[in-house]
This record gives sequence, C-alpha cells and structure tokens, in this order.
Amino acid sequence: NRPQPRPAVRQMNAYSPGKPIWEVKEELALDHVIKLASNENPLGASPLAQEAILRHLTDIHRYPDARSQKLKEAIAAVYGVTPDHILTGNGADELITLISETFLTEDHEVIVPTPSFTEYEFGAQLMGATVVPVPLTEDYQYDIRGILEAVTPRTKILYLCSPNNPTGTYLPRCQLNDLLKKLPSSILVVVDAAYSHYATEVDYTDGLEYVRAGCPILVLNTFSKIYGLAGIRVGFALSDPRIIRDIHRCKEPFNVNLLAQHAAAAALYDEEHVRASRRTVENGRISLYGAFDRLGIRFTPSMGNFVLIRVGDRAPDIYEALLRRGIIVRKGDTWGLPDHLRISVGSEEENEAFVRALEEIA
Ligand code: PMP
Repeated sequence: NRPQPRPAVRQMNAYSPGKPIWEVKEELALDHVIKLASNENPLGASPLAQEAILRHLTDIHRYPDARSQKLKEAIAAVYGVTPDHILTGNGADELITLISETFLTEDHEVIVPTPSFTEYEFGAQLMGATVVPVPLTEDYQYDIRGILEAVTPRTKILYLCSPNNPTGTYLPRCQLNDLLKKLPSSILVVVDAAYSHYATEVDYTDGLEYVRAGCPILVLNTFSKIYGLAGIRVGFALSDPRIIRDIHRCKEPFNVNLLAQHAAAAALYDEEHVRASRRTVENGRISLYGAFDRLGIRFTPSMGNFVLIRVGDRAPDIYEALLRRGIIVRKGDTWGLPDHLRISVGSEEENEAFVRALEEIA
C-alpha cells in the first residue's frame, strides 16, 4: 500500500556517475588513485575561491542570498550580459531539471542529439516528455538536417552540447545560426557550454552572442570545469530575462549555498587560474593524442577536457586493467558506446601515469 511513483518515474533508472575515489581505494586496497573520469580540473580549485570560502566560514549560520545577486553581477561583468539574464543553480544539473520542470509536460518532445550528456534525457523523462534522439554523424558531428526533420508541433526543447560530452566535437557558429533561423521560435534551444573555455577553434560559439541578440536560446555553463569547483555545485543559465524569470519560479529559494556563491564569484576573477587550466588541458590533449597515435588507438580530436577513444571489444578489459593500476576512466557504456572509453585530461603527471599504464596493457 505504499505510495506509487508516477508511471514516467517508474520507467527511469537511477543515475550512477563514476565511482568515487574512496570506493576504488577501498575495493582494490590502493593508496593512490588517479581519477580521469569526471572531467574535473586537474589543477584543483582556484586559490582565490578557496580563500573566499575560508573568509566566509564564519557566516554559514546565515541563509545564502536567494538571488545570488553578487555572484550574478560578477557573472554579468565577465560574460557581457546584465544580471537579469542570469539564473544560478546547484550545478548545471539542477538547471537542466529546472528547465524541464518549467517547460515540459507529457505532451512534449525533446530533441537530444546522441551520444551526449545524459541529464537532458533525465529531465525530459522526469516530466514524462518524450525524448527524440537524433544520432550524431559517423564522425560525431551534428546532423543539422536530421535535427530539423525531427521537429514536430510537440517539440519544446532542443539540446545542443558544445563541446559535446562525451565526443569533444562542437557545433560551428554557422550551424547554430542555421538552426536558429529555421526552427520555430516556440522551441527553446539550450546550448550547453559547460566546456566552452577549452574550445580553441575560431568558428566555435558558446551561443552568448545569440542570447544578447534576443533569440529563443538558453546557454548553460558551470563552475565545475575550468573554475575547478565541481564539489561545491554552481552552474548558471544565460537567457532572455523573460525565460529566466519563468525558470526562476520553479527554483528552491536557497539552491546555491553561501560558500558556493562566494567561491564562484572569486573564481570568476581568477584569470591566472583560468589561463593555467586552459593551458594544462590544451597541452594535455596534445600529449594524449601523441600517445594514442603511437599505440594505434583511434580517438576523436576534442575541444573539451576529455578525449573519447575507441578500443573495440577490449574496452571492458582495458577499463578493469587501468582500475587495478589505480586509474579511473569512464566507460562508454554510459552512452551506449561499449567499445569506447572517455579519458579526462589530467595534470602532466596524471596523463603520463595513464599513458604508462596503457602501454603496459595495450
Ligand atoms: N553539462 C555537461 C555537458 C557536463 O558534462 C556536465 C558535467 N559532467 C554538466 C553539464 C553538469 O555540470 P555541473 O557540475 O555544473 O552540474
């Protein structure tokens, strides 16, 4: 006689991200573990963010500012919009849920190019909406025609992850332009730019120029990647103030905690840390490409801080062998790619340790 969940919820699988470091240490009795599985920042958190947290430790008996006003002002200054274009969340993850809660019902369809970040599907399923997957092309580029063909009167949201997790490929400006021109304005285009800071191609866009131009677009970003604050959970959405106000209605008042607000604002201004993080990832990608070439491993060139490799049916064995050597990577199974592994770019030492282990195994 216990309460029963909605039918849509009953069909969902609980999301399980990669294993935490402590679990791998305990299971395999290892002292040292290298985690290259969650696209974190190998340089750690911005030192300015860490100082901000210590400075505000004595304030944590207070509720946080429900609007994150100071943080919004800092984001607005750095990203060239006004604070009313911004909503902050407990990670970009929460914002994806809030967007789903705000806009989706059981009557709606959500177009999700695949493989991509799995939370888009989660948000749609949660609301009982229908996910319409549009596969990326064979070389993991966006299939613009396929996306346009998937549109129906029920389509409400289109997700575009760029650079895309897990492939590292991106949506060039001309393709986004094309989509925005051809799609009905009743569809919200969500550009997930969580990895925007690592994209080096000149025709990359994080979509912000289209937010400023008033298009029906929402850009997601996060403090978990280049700013190194994954553990403290801050993400932000940038969109038309009317869209932001609508999503705001669904949010819990104190969704971004007090220490997180101060840490994120400080990290934004830590240009040195951002520059060093970007350089570490750019150099790391190149050294990993070199190693994959040497070992004859197929990889997709990436604009993110991770590289997707294709190792065939040995993928599970390679994954386990790396784990036994204390190196956690991400299995492609998450995205229905059982012959792939996704490797986050680590520090120079971590990348070298990973390559040494791979040389022993492969
Ligand atoms: N978008 C993408 C594409 C991601 O890969 C991730 C994190 N894995 C997120 C959003 C979520 O970021 P956050 O930590 O801010 O919830």
